[in-house]
Amino acid sequence: MTSRPVVQHGPEAAKVPLVLDSPHSGRDFPADFDAAVTEFDLREGEDCYVDELYAPATELGAPLLAALFPRTYLDPNRHRGDIDLELIEGGHWPHEHVPSGKSRIGKALVWRTLDDGRAIYARRLKVDEVVARIDRCHAPYHQRLRTLLDETHSRFGAVYHLNCHSMPAVGGKQGEGGEGRPRADFVLGDRDGTTCDPSFTEFVRATLAAMGYEVAINEPYKGVELVRAYSDPGAGRHSLQVEINKKLYMDEATRARHGGFDRLQADLTAVVAAIADFVAHRRRGA
Ligand SMILES: [Zn+2]
Repeated sequence: MTSRPVVQHGPEAAKVPLVLDSPHSGRDFPADFDAAVTEFDLREGEDCYVDELYAPATELGAPLLAALFPRTYLDPNRHRGDIDLELIEGGHWPHEHVPSGKSRIGKALVWRTLDDGRAIYARRLKVDEVVARIDRCHAPYHQRLRTLLDETHSRFGAVYHLNCHSMPAVGGKQGEGGEGRPRADFVLGDRDGTTCDPSFTEFVRATLAAMGYEVAINEPYKGVELVRAYSDPGAGRHSLQVEINKKLYMDEATRARHGGFDRLQADLTAVVAAIADFVAHRRRGA
């Protein structure tokens, strides 16, 4: 892989106690992917354009970290030890193994199958290949995000983290919540109230609802590794996962953005502005 694994949009250091990250919008396909399915098929796992949707909001002073590598190559929203043994040559992982259960549907740290069950590779991967992906993609993504959150927390005494995603309009074969189930416009995930102050989740819900959006909480997405790993609400570290319904801004069949993109982008900028105001007041204890 010659390209860099992550990019940071907006200010180098947060000017408000708010940090955004987009782990699944990358589409720089590494030369050593060696997948047996097409690039178009591999983009099934992509949260298309999520980095672009939030980019204007960074002008409000909140940095946005974005992965450039594809989610199907390595998913940074997994623990680095969440290894699918069925994908590994010899079926043995000699390093820390922290299975999350996502291997069951082929979607652990390195994906094994697409949503329709097709195998992504025509072979198993060598341990060294997977270790190289962790070193080149997972490690720098997590290191940069952790540093941004730590620096922001030490500057402001608190940090609010929006973990930004998008989701299919309808649940797929292996989708969360069951096949064929339509999704709300937004799903907020705080792992059942454990990754941020519940008043923060409620503020974001109410702000979106006031704009006319249908919002669900923790159903069917509760949030995964990135909101779990760095949150500690009691210590002023608040992480919230935000899932946007792809139907609001793109055609899922062609993966092209549609006419709703600009309105959604403007709405998200307004939401981030409201959040920046909320967290500034919270910090002062108002
Ligand atoms: Zn995602």
